[in-house]
Amino acid sequence: MRISLNSTYTKLRTILGDILYPKYCVSCGKPGAMLCTDCKNSLSGYQSVCIYCRRGSIGGMTHPKCKTYTTFMSSYSYYVYNDVLKKIIYEFKYKHNRSIFKLVYNLIYERQKLFRLPPSAILVPVPLHPQKLKERGYNQANELSKVISQIYGLDIVDCLERVKYTQTQTKMSVRKRKENVNNAFSPKHEFRDTLHRDIIIVDDVITSGSTINECAKCFSQAGQNIHALSLAIATHHTYSQTTSPEETVQTK
Ligand SMILES: [Zn+2]
Ligand SMILES: [Zn+2]
Repeated sequence: MRISLNSTYTKLRTILGDILYPKYCVSCGKPGAMLCTDCKNSLSGYQSVCIYCRRGSIGGMTHPKCKTYTTFMSSYSYYVYNDVLKKIIYEFKYKHNRSIFKLVYNLIYERQKLFRLPPSAILVPVPLHPQKLKERGYNQANELSKVISQIYGLDIVDCLERVKYTQTQTKMSVRKRKENVNNAFSPKHEFRDTLHRDIIIVDDVITSGSTINECAKCFSQAGQNIHALSLAIATHHTYSQTTSPEETVQTK
């Protein structure tokens, strides 16, 4: 009886919530849902790519010839970065609420079978500088790690810290981005033992890859496999025109 009452209450709350706070598409503003069908359909262009050259690769494995240039064994990205994802990521980054968290959860849940994540690996969110964390109130890479952890049952270990306050990389060239994040991260002292395990570094979006590469430099134990995971990745084709979620807002 209690279950039935609870479920009626939940349904009623959802209906009332929809009346009081109607949903609008996070991308185009159409009323009805957090993500309308048209915008959702634009997300279907998934392809599994090598993190270094952004060309197709099975299961996101780094090509043997690209291994010289990157620490990552493979990368897992659920979507190709496009205008709709820019807006979703912006909302996820700056408007911390249950609806956007649920949308991101569903977007990943639908595609969870694309990848078999290494079962003994730990999730390591790309950290924010403490000053930025104070301004924003939360770290979106941490929130994304929680989604991944809920779906795959992996542990989150917040073992990196950002030791350098970096400028927003919005309009920087690839070379400038590299310089900007150079030596920006460091492993936290208390987690030294954990660092022997395989690592999945988590970020909301991989554009040039400079930030996540810099995080990977913190892990150099022999035999340790390092992977990257993001909600979206810029492909080889979109790479040069890629803009950050912040730019989306300026054009709104
Ligand atoms: Zn829409
Ligand atoms: Zn490659």
